Amino acid sequence: MTDSEIKKIGIIGGGQLAWMMGNPAQKLGLKLIIQTPNIADPAVSIAPDPILAPIDDPAATAKLANYCDTITFENEFINLEGLRELAAKGICFRPSLEALAPLLDKYEQRLYLEKIGIPQPQFTTWAGEIKKEKITDTQLSNQYLNQNKLDFPIVIKARRHGYDGQGTFIIKDSDSLEKTWQKLGQNPLLVEEFIPFERELAVVAARGVTGEVVVYPVVETQQEEQVCRRVLVPAEISLKLVEKINAIAKTILTSLEVVGIFGIELFLTSNGKVLVNEISPRTHNSGHFTIDACQTSQFENHLRAVAGLPLGNTTLNCQGAIMVNLLGYETSQNDYIEKREKLANLPETFVHWYGKTESRRGRKLGHVTVRCDFQERNKLNAIAKNIESIWYS
Ligand code: ADP
Repeated sequence: MTDSEIKKIGIIGGGQLAWMMGNPAQKLGLKLIIQTPNIADPAVSIAPDPILAPIDDPAATAKLANYCDTITFENEFINLEGLRELAAKGICFRPSLEALAPLLDKYEQRLYLEKIGIPQPQFTTWAGEIKKEKITDTQLSNQYLNQNKLDFPIVIKARRHGYDGQGTFIIKDSDSLEKTWQKLGQNPLLVEEFIPFERELAVVAARGVTGEVVVYPVVETQQEEQVCRRVLVPAEISLKLVEKINAIAKTILTSLEVVGIFGIELFLTSNGKVLVNEISPRTHNSGHFTIDACQTSQFENHLRAVAGLPLGNTTLNCQGAIMVNLLGYETSQNDYIEKREKLANLPETFVHWYGKTESRRGRKLGHVTVRCDFQERNKLNAIAKNIESIWYS
């Protein structure tokens, strides 16, 4: 099959990231078919004949492949080994399984970034080797961490299946390291130095089948309890830093030969250094503003890349923007229609509601983007505050 014949795209996963591909798919004349275990998932509304099966079920993906020309991913919680057997039989995945393989385990991702020379926190892996002894902080740092010049506080991360900060813990001493490790099922962990960052930044970039790479504006992300609350566009940083981050994004996407969109999260330190926190091999929450505030959204560019079409323009269609996540703050089946209408009535404000049937604390229920005719950080923050005062009131 040639790229121009790609019309039907399978998506493994049915959450909001797949749902937001609905509009651009229609615009580009592409049909989407999803694989998801849950009929109530947001993307079922835009792709009504899903393969109802767990996302890591390769037999279901084989079935999905019967209905589409190529398969892409909405999240990274996939069964790589199972999918490899399908790829060997000629099923086309975009991005390829080779591009995803070094990224799915957070420790292996760090090894890969090290290999290609990307700046990042110092790191190691730990699997409780001395768990039976009473470990003192000094022993632990001497035996395991000082070799890599790490010291408490440290950050530990579950190597797989973490999201929205679940599986990421800031650890102050060896006792809590031990306890958290027990809680995480005694699986090997990624351990990394704690970065007292000044700000967190992110960038979304796409690479097409011909190797062209396009990069969106670098943004500032603001996390609370390790969950993204708001995104300020563009980040208030020097042109030199923007160029550096663009170069990092290009290096990563090119060396992995990615086809599709990747999100890259970064730390900016007080002395002006940027370090990569994490690569997400998919569309990213930090890029949701692109739907309303850019010439081409991240979702459209992802589909363009996967369908072998030329990539679209990533520039802003306004001076600046702010994206605020609407997070659940209670357990409820409320659809919050009044609050949504109030938000939608604000100037240049676009409300995206994912249609989830149940709200839980911290669950991403929707997001709001406001297009602005300014870029100043304090003004963007003030707009976010107003939105949050309506939403969380
Ligand atoms: P997830 O993949 O679950 O989103 P992350 O690794 O991105 O988890 O971590 C979530 C948040 O935790 C980050 O956005 C950041 O605020 C904080 N964090 C992660 N790693 C570090 C680190 N090495 N130093 C300081 N803070 C960190």
